Amino acid sequence: MSISSKNRSKIMNLLDPDEFRRQGHMIIDFLADYYENIEKYPVVSRVEPGYLSKCLPDSAPSDQESVETILHDIDQYIVPGLTHWQSPNFFAYFPSSFSIPGMLGEILCSGFNVAGFNWFSSPAATELESLVMEWLGKLLDLPTSFLFSGHGGGVIQGNTCEAIICTLTSARDKILRRLGHDSITKLVVYGSDQTHCSFQKAARIVGIDPQNFRTIKTTWSTSFGLSPDSLRNVIYSDIDRGLIPLYLCATVGTTAITAVDPLTPLCKIANEFGMWVHVDAAYAGASCICPEYRKLINGVELADSFSFNAHKWLLTPLDCCCLWLKDPSALVKSLSTDPEYLKNEATDSKQVVDYKDWQLSLSRRFRALKLWLVLRSYGEHNLRNHIRNHCGLAKFFGELVEEDGRFEIAFPRHFAMICFRIHPSAVIDNMAIGHALEKGHGEAWKAEEVNRLNAQLLEAVNASGRAFMTHALVGGIYAIRFCVGGALVTERHVAMAWKVVQEHANSVLALARHAKE
Ligand code: PLP
Repeated sequence: MSISSKNRSKIMNLLDPDEFRRQGHMIIDFLADYYENIEKYPVVSRVEPGYLSKCLPDSAPSDQESVETILHDIDQYIVPGLTHWQSPNFFAYFPSSFSIPGMLGEILCSGFNVAGFNWFSSPAATELESLVMEWLGKLLDLPTSFLFSGHGGGVIQGNTCEAIICTLTSARDKILRRLGHDSITKLVVYGSDQTHCSFQKAARIVGIDPQNFRTIKTTWSTSFGLSPDSLRNVIYSDIDRGLIPLYLCATVGTTAITAVDPLTPLCKIANEFGMWVHVDAAYAGASCICPEYRKLINGVELADSFSFNAHKWLLTPLDCCCLWLKDPSALVKSLSTDPEYLKNEATDSKQVVDYKDWQLSLSRRFRALKLWLVLRSYGEHNLRNHIRNHCGLAKFFGELVEEDGRFEIAFPRHFAMICFRIHPSAVIDNMAIGHALEKGHGEAWKAEEVNRLNAQLLEAVNASGRAFMTHALVGGIYAIRFCVGGALVTERHVAMAWKVVQEHANSVLALARHAKE
């Protein structure tokens, strides 16, 4: 049966090169304009929940619409609903930094749109990923045992949560193969109260009994890093109860305040008990390309796996979590599948990596391209300068905080983040808390007031639209996190953000004073 000439005229040319060029140029121009004007937007979106359904139709169009019309709607309706993560006034969370080569690498990835689940399905996708992970592993000065050249290997995952699910699954299966599946109820996993919540989610998914999820308390005495003594005590108590220590998730650069768990002593303890250690350096890992920060992961040679997100601070767009393992075969044993339709000679030869067996899903994006473009376009020296520049800008912000007697740095600075707050004494002087204390209010009330005022300050700064920061609540202290990481940030933006904080501190303190009078 042939296609009638009437129908043939209706068939769209989905990849018409001229149309691709025309529309592609328009979209690149649109984005170039967006970046040129990005400072004009309030950093945090001001839309109300549900705003978009009031702007856009409630069903898809029956006829085609032009790219011009669609771009118009993006400008009118989508951009106002964006929080501008690439704004140079964005200092919130951890950065999602990226760059021209990163973005263009992403375009190439979509442009080729290969689903390189195994070597045969797209050899370049697999081989470039292995190569780039080798390059990056060397840049981070990872032990050779984590590299392909040392019988380990690296893989790009979507995010840290996936990396933890995969490694925890491998650790679980390794032990259950020996002890039998029934022992799953006895397996215990360990982290600190500063470990990222994705660990808890991963443990739940992997089938660890929620009662066997240990969150070890951290304190000022270890700067909120996990104490090796505490870990040992908890492990002993679990073993006494007939439980089996399985997995430790150690963090370098915790989400709240960038605390660092001491890897060497923690790994030594875990090794004594035959546990798997995963090092989560989601944010801080990028800094390890600089020798002065690399020392913070000393001890990683005793761990089993290490991951960091290149999409946080290494100029590569989402998503790009880099995971290395000493024993990739443990991962493959847990995650491999062998359906008939994927059988091929390369796999049978055992000479190739089939990355589908190193991750959760089957299909996978050609993420290595963007990382390759970033590493090649900048080179080691520029990438180090990029990290050092951001750390320098954070240090500069810290100096501004310290120059103003009303403020203090709340937690020690690591990397490119400052945690600061209005100093309790400034709150007390301001609010005549002495008077309130005479009235019977105690220390706890005072601490709450200090936290409340700092939360008000953060809210006011963010509502201004001129800067965006987030907060941490650690050891009872509410601190404002100021994290430098955007590609466009300069000293001018840092100085301006501090001015915004000072201005709003004046009004927040004045308001509080009046309220107490
Ligand atoms: N681990 C740490 C230390 C983090 O800071 C974060 C996110 O900020 C994560 C894990 C979660 O990363 P992902 O979104 O890649 O799962």
